[in-house]
Parts: sequence; structure tokens; C-alpha cells
Amino acid sequence: MSEEKREYSLETKVVNGSHKDQFRASVAPAYLSATFKPNSLSDMGDYDYTRSGNPSRTNVQDHVAKIIKCDYVFATNSGMSALDVIVRTVKPGDAVIAGDDLYGGTHRLLTYLKEKDGVDVQHHDTTDLKIMKEKITKDTKMVFLESPTNPLIKVIDLKSICDHAHSVNPDCVVVFDNTMMSPILMSPLELGADIQYESATKYMNGHHDIMAGIVATNNKVLADKIFYVINATGAGLAPFDSWLLMRGLKTLALRIERQQESAMKIATWLESKGLKVRYPGLKSHPQYELHKSQCKGPGGVLSFETGDVKISETIIEKCELYSITVSFGCVNSLISLPCKMSHASIDEEVRKERDFPEDLIRLCIGIEGVDDLIYDLEQALKFAGVL
Ligand code: PLP
Repeated sequence: MSEEKREYSLETKVVNGSHKDQFRASVAPAYLSATFKPNSLSDMGDYDYTRSGNPSRTNVQDHVAKIIKCDYVFATNSGMSALDVIVRTVKPGDAVIAGDDLYGGTHRLLTYLKEKDGVDVQHHDTTDLKIMKEKITKDTKMVFLESPTNPLIKVIDLKSICDHAHSVNPDCVVVFDNTMMSPILMSPLELGADIQYESATKYMNGHHDIMAGIVATNNKVLADKIFYVINATGAGLAPFDSWLLMRGLKTLALRIERQQESAMKIATWLESKGLKVRYPGLKSHPQYELHKSQCKGPGGVLSFETGDVKISETIIEKCELYSITVSFGCVNSLISLPCKMSHASIDEEVRKERDFPEDLIRLCIGIEGVDDLIYDLEQALKFAGVL
């Protein structure tokens, strides 16, 4: 056997957390304490106040750092607060480029930044590399990207955008929202992003019982700024939520494996019925090859069109196994009409400009039996007259 220490797979890493506990508990305890006593007045110890740090938060941050293989990880109290602490590092007048198909809440926060703080935020089609190369210049301070977007499932060429941004401005900070793929399927920092963030409310926790966010970077200067804001604003993840996130993470790889296997079967089935399906695992997806080149799998979210909003509404209401909720990445399957739910905060006119089909149905596949999920969709499609 080789002497070299084996690099364990992600499937192994997510299960094996390491922590120091005085009683050698196999599961790290939740430190439900807002304050910590100093060892003495000349030795304050590692923790004093949970807003600044808590052992349960440190535990999950260290675990995620091992999974992502990066130097600095911060756990925040939602995906949006993860984004908020990142955007607070830009200044009024700074030029910022963002995708035109980002998550609705991201769009809302960037609009706030533009209107209230005078940050020059411009939205562009980030799937078009030519446009990106034109728009990202030496003056661009930050770029916000997401791939695949949801529910339009548009894919961007992350490495090429990062290479270009850093060649025109080595200090340009490329920020990537990795919520859709999770650290199991995509490694944005390895592709050149400076900051990766996740809504850990989704796949990383996986059970829709907490809100959480993750910010990861290898850049110490950025890490220091981000920690400063987290401490200043109190955006850090609470101890019990840190503990729950740690528990959820242990099944992350297993859940994703099952979710994407089922998503692939469902996408193929829907396409075989003649419906227009958006899923990066289908060869019909225009960026199938690009997605495959930068991710380890297509994930568990897909969308399809029915041709009529009323028909879409009927299908959604007729499904029994898919719960009608926003969000994704949960163990149970979800169905939604994005134009009336997750993307309702985007103006109808803007949705039109961005070719956002109002009849688009989004499916987020869970870990149920896939034949049951197909059966449920089939009865709903038949009821709505689509089949
Ligand atoms: N990023 C994406 C892609 C999302 O879908 C969401 C929420 O739906 C967020 C960020 C925001 O995360 P949170 O809801 O945890 O604040």
C-alpha cells in the first residue's frame, strides 16, 4: 500500500466531521450559549459572545471548509445574509456586473444597493461570453454569477468569465452563487471564482427546517472584510441551526445522488411526452456540453412548459406528491409556478423582456420513489388535458 495519505471522496468527507469535545461525544454538541466566560482577565479564551463566534458555528464552518477545500468559510443566518455580507464590501460608485437571470431575491438586494448606496449595478446576459468580455472591464469591481439559473436553467462559462475578469482587473472579485449545484456537483473556487456562496437552506441542509448561508473564499483580505461585517451585523448562523446544518450535511452526497438520478428519469419522461423541458442533463439542453465540462452532474431541478398558464396551474394543483412551495433542495419533491411564486418580485415587464415563460412549471425532485413521482405527474398532466 502507498505511504501517501489518501484524499477521501466527497461522499466520505461529508459524513466524517472532526471536532474536539471534552467528553469525546461522537456528535458535537450544540453550544446554546450567547456568552462564554474568559479563562482569566488576561486570557479571554476562544469565544466570548456568540455574535462573534460560537463552537457550533466553528464546527460546521470547519466541516464545510474541508468539503469545499478552501481556507475560509463563514456560516450565516440565510443565503440572502451571505450575499448581504458580500455586497457590503463594495463602495458607492463601484462598477458591478450581475446576471440578468439571477434568483429574484438577489436581484432585489442588488437593486437596493444600486438605489440606496449608489453602486453602479448593470445586469447582462452572462451566458453570452462575448457580452461578458465586452462589459467586464478594468473598472469592474465585482461580478455576480449563478449557474444553472433557475427556473430558466441557463448555464454560464464560469472559468472563461473568471479568466477574463482577472486578466482585465486582477482585483475584480467574482462572486458565484452555487446553491443549485452545491459543493457536491460544482467547485466554483477551483474554476476561478473569488467567493462562493450558497443558500444552505437548500441542498446543504436538505430538510427545509432551517435558513442558512455559506460564504467561502481563499482570499484572506476578503475573508477579513466578510468576518468584520458578520460580526458587526450579527449575521452569523445561530448555534442550534449550525448543529442542524451539520446533521443535514452528512447526507448531502447521498441525497443529491438520488435526487439527480430521479430528475434525469423525470426529465426524460416529460420530454418523451413532447413537452419542452429545461434540464442540463438532457442532450437537448443548448449548453449540455458546457454544463458537463464544469459540473459533476445535472442536479435535481428542472422546468417545463405547457403552453398555457391555466393548464400549468391545473397541473400544479392536481399533483399530490409534489408540494406547492418555493425553494428547492429538500428531501421531498416540490412544484411551483415561478412567475407567481419565487419570481413574483421581478416585474412582469422585466420577465417579458427576459423571455420568462409565464406557464413555466418548476420541479425540484426529492428522494421519493421515482415511479411514484412519474405516476403523480402523469395523472396531473392527464387531468389537465396535456396527455
Ligand atoms: N440563491 C438562490 C439560487 C436561491 O434560490 C435562494 C433562495 O431561494 C437564495 C440564494 C437565497 O437564500 P435564502 O432563502 O436562504 O436566503
